[in-house]
Amino acid sequence: MDERKYVVEIKDLEVEYRTDSGVVHALNGFEMKLEKGKTLGLVGESGCGKSTMGRAILRLHEPTSGHVYFQGEDVLTFDKAKMKHMRRDMQIVFQDPFASLNPRMTVGQIIGEGLTSHGIYKRGDPAMKEYIMKVMEDCGLASYMFNRYPHQFSGGQRQRIGIARSLALSPKFVVCDEAVSALDVSIQSQILNLLSELREKAGLTYLFITHDLSVVKYISDRICVMYLGNMVELSESEELFKHTYHPYTEALLSAIPTTEEDNGGRERILLEGDIPSPVNPPSGCKFHTRCANCMARCKVEEPQQREVEPGHFVVCHLYDK
Ligand code: ADP
Ligand code: MG
Repeated sequence: MDERKYVVEIKDLEVEYRTDSGVVHALNGFEMKLEKGKTLGLVGESGCGKSTMGRAILRLHEPTSGHVYFQGEDVLTFDKAKMKHMRRDMQIVFQDPFASLNPRMTVGQIIGEGLTSHGIYKRGDPAMKEYIMKVMEDCGLASYMFNRYPHQFSGGQRQRIGIARSLALSPKFVVCDEAVSALDVSIQSQILNLLSELREKAGLTYLFITHDLSVVKYISDRICVMYLGNMVELSESEELFKHTYHPYTEALLSAIPTTEEDNGGRERILLEGDIPSPVNPPSGCKFHTRCANCMARCKVEEPQQREVEPGHFVVCHLYDK
């Protein structure tokens, strides 16, 4: 039994994309730890580097430098064979189940594909069908769907198929990248409940990526808020909503349309302008160009991470000692 507290530990993670318009600095020395059996929500506006994080952890895009420790081993040092083996334990569920499901394969084939490619079952093994049926049931999919095609189903059902495909491999860690963002609100909560249930049952650890704070609130134990490739605030989920420190988090929270009492009384803070280009990010604190509390030093000096309360980290000059 592996008794370590953190399943995934990310250290100094840097990711760049080389493009015609220059080098995109998508992640700049990111640090993050994911506790076993818990969900860490990763939030921030579109383009801040959330998907890059998910893809870098799974090495779907190769990081420029840094470390991704999975159960204590740095996956960035793994060779192809070891990485293939590791992929069983580290899965990803994408936003658009339609784009990520092969339209020419039946639901049963889609869910079974990973099982045969990882050598867990031989093709045609009757035990495999039985196992797939069990996974489908766990994911709320009716057995008649086994021989049907993904396009015959709704977005919510297709997302269940995507989840079943990932979970069939009994992973330990799952990245959910905007996994409910394309769904109607009522379907969203069904899928969120399913993900929570499956996490409890299998003791999974999630990195739950979304641009939507109202979604992340319900599923996350802790929340990491990021801006332009950097962490700005990280704390227990409830704590983040109760005691918000970073002006960026404050602005994000104030934008959630809600009548809930814990968000009541927040005045809406408009974030002006777009997120700046990660090709030429602002100097000092990257958020200074849009920050309501910007001070002179914010423009030149990069803020350091502070633990403002136990387990609550903020990267902002307002909290310098
Ligand atoms: P998010 O998921 O938070 O919306 P992404 O991780 O997709 O953000 O993107 C972070 C930044 O990296 C953005 O500026 C985006 O344009 C850029 N980017 C993402 N993927 C690529 C790529 N394949 N090539 C070049 N730039 C990319
Ligand atoms: Mg994304």
